[in-house]
Amino acid sequence: MKISDCFGDNVFSKSVMQTRLPREVYDEVCAVMEHGGQISTQSADVVAKAMMEWAVEKGATHYTHWFMPLTGVTAEKHDSFLSKPDEQGKVILRLTGKQLIMGEPDASSFPTGGLRATHYARGYTAWDITSPAFVKEMACGTILCIPTVFISYTGEALDNKTPLLRSMEALSQQAIRILRLFGDQNAKKVIPSVGAEQEYFIVDREKYLKRRDLIYTGRTLFGAPAPKGQELEDQYFGVIRERVGEFMADLNVELWKMGIPATTQHNEVAPAQHESAPIYTACNVAVDHNQLTMETMKRVANRHGLVCLLHEKPFAGVNGSGKHNNWSISTDTGENLLDPGNTPSDNLQFLLVLSCIIKAVDRHADLLRMSTACVGNDQRLGADEAPPAIVSIFLGSQLEDLVEQIVKNGTAADCLSVGQLDTGVSTLPLIHKDAADRNRTSPFAFTGNKFEFRMVGSSDCIANSNTVLNTIVAEAFSEAADVLEQSGDIPRDAIGLVAENLRKHSRVIFNGNGYSEEWIQEAARRGLPNLPSMVSAIPTLTTEKAIELFGKFGVFTAAELESRSEIMYETFAKVTFIEARTMVHMAAKHYIPAIVRYCTRLGDSVCKVRTACPQASVTVQEKLLLQTSALLTEASAALEALREAIDRGNSMEGVKEVANHCHDTVVPAMKALRDPIDRLEMIVDKDLWPVPTYGDLVFEV
Ligand code: ADP
Ligand code: MG
Repeated sequence: MKISDCFGDNVFSKSVMQTRLPREVYDEVCAVMEHGGQISTQSADVVAKAMMEWAVEKGATHYTHWFMPLTGVTAEKHDSFLSKPDEQGKVILRLTGKQLIMGEPDASSFPTGGLRATHYARGYTAWDITSPAFVKEMACGTILCIPTVFISYTGEALDNKTPLLRSMEALSQQAIRILRLFGDQNAKKVIPSVGAEQEYFIVDREKYLKRRDLIYTGRTLFGAPAPKGQELEDQYFGVIRERVGEFMADLNVELWKMGIPATTQHNEVAPAQHESAPIYTACNVAVDHNQLTMETMKRVANRHGLVCLLHEKPFAGVNGSGKHNNWSISTDTGENLLDPGNTPSDNLQFLLVLSCIIKAVDRHADLLRMSTACVGNDQRLGADEAPPAIVSIFLGSQLEDLVEQIVKNGTAADCLSVGQLDTGVSTLPLIHKDAADRNRTSPFAFTGNKFEFRMVGSSDCIANSNTVLNTIVAEAFSEAADVLEQSGDIPRDAIGLVAENLRKHSRVIFNGNGYSEEWIQEAARRGLPNLPSMVSAIPTLTTEKAIELFGKFGVFTAAELESRSEIMYETFAKVTFIEARTMVHMAAKHYIPAIVRYCTRLGDSVCKVRTACPQASVTVQEKLLLQTSALLTEASAALEALREAIDRGNSMEGVKEVANHCHDTVVPAMKALRDPIDRLEMIVDKDLWPVPTYGDLVFEV
């Protein structure tokens, strides 16, 4: 398969539109994509017809408004292109401009966080013209997908896309003000670019189906570590196993067809863990692509008798999965505002942009942390292999040195030179070093011409993090522009502002080991927020600071923030209850009966050996029986305690109270049940153990 033969084949791209739309209509669509506004009803009809004909040629039978409700996954409801047959009974296929532009799904069952009572269920989907339509080939048919936003009858966002688009506009407006100050009169728009590296696990489907925890929750809720974990680091970048490789090859083609520029693939650190990364694109398109990537991974894996696990921590004791959200901002003329150039010390615009980002991240570290809060990430952030729950920035030696100079002297005289690396072998090339080494423990790291935000969970929708990033940076830009637009001496006042921003906010810069215990203490001394759990991060959404920020830039109203906070509490509680009930089920139906059988087997052995040969020792069997029954007693008590914790939670009122109960009581009760069962796994006969073990799951694919 040639990449060039399949890439973008299923996308109603600009080039497809160019060949299929009349010139004026094409120009009108492009103008709206670039500068906003509405396309006329007549043009919408023309686009819709062309889109449908194109899709039908691809085999499409249905279309859908494809959107991102607050469930974290995408939603689609398929409608065929059929319209009422004519008198001769001949079918007529139709997609009208109105159907393209707007839809009204029966929206009563999506989470709204109290924005609508369920009996007022109207919600509208509206075409996002900036994100190309595409066809998706699925078992249920080939479907034309029209990316849309989803809003309530009263105009509030009920999805992840609307606020993202709002934040992109806010960022663009404020960044343009900065560019104008430095003499750029050409750029009309500034666009954040995003490339999301997606980590995932692959397991065998037959084994997966034997584990209720994987089926219901996407992670293992029990399981002792396998004798081998990731300590040899031989999985990382290792040779890709054949079965997984076949999956990857198939996946790439599927993604390429939908115009997703998947480019990097490799084995990750944990056994059975892998990664796929695309070439970066405009933020909203990258969000669509990432959602589609996750969905396609699951679908394609199934085809290969495999299951793709996107959970942040499918297996305890080995690395979890995240999503590195690479983010930069560029003009429509192609200038990356995060490119330091060869001598960043002379690049005043870059220094101002950088200092604004540092200010934004320091001031709203709590919101950035919140944007990565999802139930699975509670298992990952702050564990050894993931960034801590404390937001800090890594700049690398060159920029850090510049920051120090500016903080000290108000200006930067020179740049640390980067230099070359000599391998000591004359035939090898001289290596031109990057301006900064990497710091893999940093949650927010500068990597050359972009920031890499590493806290995002692997299953999460990246819209949230980018909405927050875009908005907080828009705010810092707007404050800088407010000052400098009044200035009579921009170079002088700009460096003054850079120094001020850095002096106030450089506490958020940290180049050391983010995994260490000392950093947690140091961060506390610096006054940086440490929000270790989802429930501790949710209140940051509705602080006065957050309401003012998002309100000022029209990204979220106070009511929208309130609703999102409700939904997050609700989600935390619901997911925790599902996990807890799954544990109860597995302990009561699978583990305890198996352990009882094992005790019986030991008891039988003791009796039979004694009878058969009174001189033979039965101390091993007796010792095992004592150990096992002690742990069984512990497990049984923990099971009762967990049941009680669930019942108590079910009888409580108020989403916040229930979520806190889940965090404070249910989660510890789950751990108390897991402990004895995992220890028993190391004792009980393999043939009696009711589910595949970690070793079976991650080493036998
Ligand atoms: P790294 O090795 O630093 O992780 P890569 O080049 O492998 O960098 O890129 C990782 C991800 O970052 C990819 O998805 C890539 O497309 C994306 N990326 C690269 N440059 C940029 C940029 N300027 N803005 C946003 N994302 C970028
Ligand atoms: Mg990376």
